[in-house]
Amino acid sequence: MKVPLLDLKAQFNPIKSEVMNAVEAVFESQQFINGPQVKELEKQIAAYSGCKAGIGVSSGTDALLCALMALGIKAGDEIITTPFTFFATAGCIWRVGAKPVFVDIDIKTYNIDVDKIERAITKKTKAIMPVHLFGQVADMDPIMEIAKKYNLFVIEDACQSIGASYKGRKAGSIGTIGCFSFFPSKNLGTAGDGGMIVTQDAVLGEQLEIMRGHGSKPKYFHQVVGGNFRLDTLQAAILLVKLKHLDSWSEARRSNAAKYDNLLKSMHSIVRPHIEPHNVSIYNQYVIRVPKRDELRKFLTEKGIGTEIYYPLSLHEQTCFKELGHRKGDFPESEAAAAETVALPVYPELTDEQITYVSESIKSFYK
Ligand SMILES: *Cc1c(COP(=O)(O)O)cnc(C)c1O
Repeated sequence: MKVPLLDLKAQFNPIKSEVMNAVEAVFESQQFINGPQVKELEKQIAAYSGCKAGIGVSSGTDALLCALMALGIKAGDEIITTPFTFFATAGCIWRVGAKPVFVDIDIKTYNIDVDKIERAITKKTKAIMPVHLFGQVADMDPIMEIAKKYNLFVIEDACQSIGASYKGRKAGSIGTIGCFSFFPSKNLGTAGDGGMIVTQDAVLGEQLEIMRGHGSKPKYFHQVVGGNFRLDTLQAAILLVKLKHLDSWSEARRSNAAKYDNLLKSMHSIVRPHIEPHNVSIYNQYVIRVPKRDELRKFLTEKGIGTEIYYPLSLHEQTCFKELGHRKGDFPESEAAAAETVALPVYPELTDEQITYVSESIKSFYK
């Protein structure tokens, strides 16, 4: 049996004619930039996330970058974030000249440890950038409380968590700004790169829109220096088709996760995902923590099972950040997660036979 980590063809086949019709409509209009589909998608994603405004952008990375630029984050500022995330989170902070200040994770959820945030705050701190890793929202109530106390912005890196909720509130709707990615492997993925910024603040929404288009308003008059962070009409048109299916896809991922939980629960050496009772995860990844991780991975590869390591090196240990002066041991929970976790296939179209095969293969490795 073959079980890939992700099977995008299985997702595409049943919606192929809908997607191709949407693509054809864009070609017929030839409105490749700022077509009406972009505005429509912004409206729908804002509503879907419980936000006032949505600003389509070219990627999740550009969502984060544009957010930092619109908030005026600059050289000398410090932004608190997690070292256990995709590179873009800290990369964007660096690119605006600010300093990423890492705070270790809670190993149970792999999200930022809120009890350690306050001691990382200095006079230079301007924002907290929590990441909702693997589809589960970080502990936002204490984060918002700290932000209020110290007058900080909160930028939610919700790139892996569109549609997830925290105490009934949607990912991206709690902080100052929320950022989504439509990279093909995310729950809502497009045919290339794409992203969206959401906010509850209509004025900030306008500033983000200006920043997305070279800082120009009106056209060819620039109050600020922005960039070209636009979302293609083609991508928006495809996303409008796929958004209708997002909740059922995420539900199927939750159901697959529950099946793994059930099949793996007798294995005491395996730490399964811990979802806080107040959270609804969208399981962008189903990540387990195991002994002999690399050997297990090799074994599963030989069995035809795709896995991935998200992420093999904690960001404080990356060469490009060496001038931050960190060393191994600075963030032990993040380092442990990087060394011991592996993601299993959890995509919506997985069959029960595949889930059983993956689980049985893992069990046979540890026997
Ligand atoms: C995917 C991702 C990003 C970047 O999104 P792109 O669309 O690939 O640029 C940023 N942060 C996290 C946590 C991500 O998972």
